[in-house]
Order: sequence, then C-alpha cells, then structure tokens
Amino acid sequence: MAVRVITVGSQQFENLRKAALDIEPLICARCGFCTFVCPAYLDTLWDSQSPRGKLYQLRELIKKKQPIPADFAERIFRCTLCGACQEICQTKIPLLHFWQIIRQEVNLAGHWPEIVHFLDKNIQQSQNIMDLDQEDRTIWADMVDDIVEGHIGKAAATAYFVGCNISFKGSLASIAENTVKLFNHLDIDFTILGEKEFCCGNPYFVAGEWDKAREIAKHHLEELKRLGVKRVVFNCPGCHRAFNEEYSHLLGEESTKDFEFIPFSQFVAMNLRDGRLKFTKEYSHVVTWHDPCELGRHQNIYDYSREVLAAIPGLELREMKHTRNKSDCCGGGGLLKGTNPTMSVRISARRLESAEKTGAEFLLSECPSCMMSFFDGIEYKHSKIQFKDLSEIVAEALDL
Ligand code: SF4
Ligand code: SF4
Repeated sequence: MAVRVITVGSQQFENLRKAALDIEPLICARCGFCTFVCPAYLDTLWDSQSPRGKLYQLRELIKKKQPIPADFAERIFRCTLCGACQEICQTKIPLLHFWQIIRQEVNLAGHWPEIVHFLDKNIQQSQNIMDLDQEDRTIWADMVDDIVEGHIGKAAATAYFVGCNISFKGSLASIAENTVKLFNHLDIDFTILGEKEFCCGNPYFVAGEWDKAREIAKHHLEELKRLGVKRVVFNCPGCHRAFNEEYSHLLGEESTKDFEFIPFSQFVAMNLRDGRLKFTKEYSHVVTWHDPCELGRHQNIYDYSREVLAAIPGLELREMKHTRNKSDCCGGGGLLKGTNPTMSVRISARRLESAEKTGAEFLLSECPSCMMSFFDGIEYKHSKIQFKDLSEIVAEALDL
C-alpha cells in the first residue's frame, strides 16, 4: 500500500500537526506518570510502547517529515484506548482524542491492521461486525419471544439498542433476555429496531474513520425519530458512548437533543429512585465491580451501578484497589482483542488478579466486551472467580 508522507501544513495532517507539534512537545513534561498506568506498557515494559514513548516517536517522525512506518502503526493499535493515560497526564494532554486522530493518520498511511479492514468490510456489506444476516439480529429473543413479540419496529418512547455482540453471540444473549424481562416486569412499553439496527459505528470511532460513522449515526437517529423514541437503553458502553457522545460530535448538538441515552445501570437506578422498582429478596453474595472504560473514564459514569448494588438486600460489594477513574482495563477495548489477542488476555488476567484479591465470588460489570475479555482471562488463568453482567444480578435478585 502507498505510504503517505507526512507533510507539515497539509490539510489532512492539520489536526495531528496541531496536536503533535504545537501542543505535545511544548506540554509533555516526559514525567512518565502515564507509563505506569498504561496496560500496554505494563505488558511489554517497552518505553516505546508507553504513551510518553509514542508521543516522543511521533514528534521525531514529524520533525524529520518521515512517513508513519508500519512498526509505529502497530504500536498505535497496541492500545486499549482505556484513557488511563489521559486521566493521569500531568499536563492535561487530551490523549484519547489524540490516539484516535493518529489512528486516522495510520489509516491514511495505509497501515490499518487487517482486523480493522475486516470489520469495515463486514459493516459496509451487512451492517454488523460479524457479516451475519441482519434477519438474525433478534435471534437472541428466541427464549423470550413472548415478551419481544410485537415490539420490533413498533412506535414507543423507550427503545432498547442491543448492539452487535449481544445480538449475535449466543454467550451474551442472556444480557438482552434479562433486559427485556426487566422491561416486562416494570410494564414498560419498548421498541427494538430489529433489522434496522446497524452496528453503532464504534469500530469506526476507535479506528479514526469518521465519514462512515456519520452515515450510521444519521441512520439511527432517523429511525429513532420515526418511531417516536425519547430514551434509549444500552447494555454496551461502546454503543452508548457512540450515541451519547460521538453522534453529536459528528452531526451537531441539535441532532441528539431530543433523546436521552442511558446505560442499563442508570435505567435500573432511575426506576429505584422513582419507586417503580424494589429489591426485596435476600441475595447473599460477595461481589466486586469493574468499571468499563467507555462508561467510566470516557464518560465519567460510575455511580449508578453502585447505587443498584447497594439496593439489593444481602449483597456485599468489595471494591478492588483500583476503581472508578483509576480502574485498570479489562484488555478488550480499542480493538486490541482483534489486533493482539495475547496481549489482551494478559491484561485481562492482571485485572482478574485484583478481583480475586477481594475474595469476591462474582466479578461484575456492565459491558459485553469486558464480559468476553474476562471469560477469556478466567480460562487463561484458571481463575475460580465467576463473571456476571449487572443484568444477570438484577434478574436473579428479582427472580425474573
Ligand atoms: S489509552 Fe490506555 S492503553 Fe492506550 S496509551 Fe493510554 S493508557 Fe495506554
Ligand atoms: S503523563 Fe502526560 S506529560 Fe507526563 S509523560 Fe505522559 S503524556 Fe507526557
């Protein structure tokens, strides 16, 4: 593939140039705080893999007007986009956005990893990341067809956006089943987009391809408007972040102002607060909570899940050493599971170690990507801890 030479001052390069030349060299203090929170650095112990190291290499490339080489591109994708570097950065460099911009540059330089091309092809061909038939989008509903029947494509104020992973992966189907069971328990009318639900566009956001993501955003917002939807419930933080943050970045604040996008934990907490929902059964288990990066550091959402857990009688939450904005990553973000599965599983195993130290029976979170990572990590490390999605705990505590 053709390699694009970085030309300082070219239009395409303007954002990166601004961030890398005008901001980073002046601001980055090379303090190294970001190195010891970066899961990719901790896995390799290579400074060239740390946020500080990558910034330094980039500056050198730009200074010498050299093209992005393949090995540097690889390093850029050896990153979970967990945001821990941005959180700790002493000089407040907006590193998350910065890595996204550089991934766009990597694409323009012809170095996107194979997995990104694969996902791109699948989404363009089939509107989902697995290249499966869109008719099978609601295959997860087979066990709850009595609840879902009549809700696909109907007009309703509440929509449930299922997401590709939960829709098509049998091991995650229980998340969607539990969610619609809860709607049913609360007597909430809802709609599911069915075949009109496409990939949310998250793979494009993390790979720095905004034009294709914009088309997806337009499609979803039009569909929601057509059905009279006011709020959308999500189990997947990646999908939630796409709707809640990225769509308005692409299409303007106006485009999303009539919608409320809420993660599952917030939906449960809202119903607890207004008295529609009450946990009465004793549920005597010791649990620990993992904050998904795309809800936590990316969107500053930490409290709803803990509010829900505190409302369940008998449940004891034991926090890990690193939680909330200091939480360690599960290893599954930023497409790392596809670009470097062995690194991803080692990062997951490290997080599992912290969970095990709490003595909890269950490790909980609300994210299908974290769930897949922890399933892999538990197998890799022969861990005794069990992973459960929040929806499962809620359904069990309510006997749904
Ligand atoms: S986003 Fe996470 S994995 Fe990527 S460079 Fe920052 S700390 Fe490292
Ligand atoms: S924490 Fe920020 S200032 Fe310090 S080395 Fe990392 S990027 Fe540079």
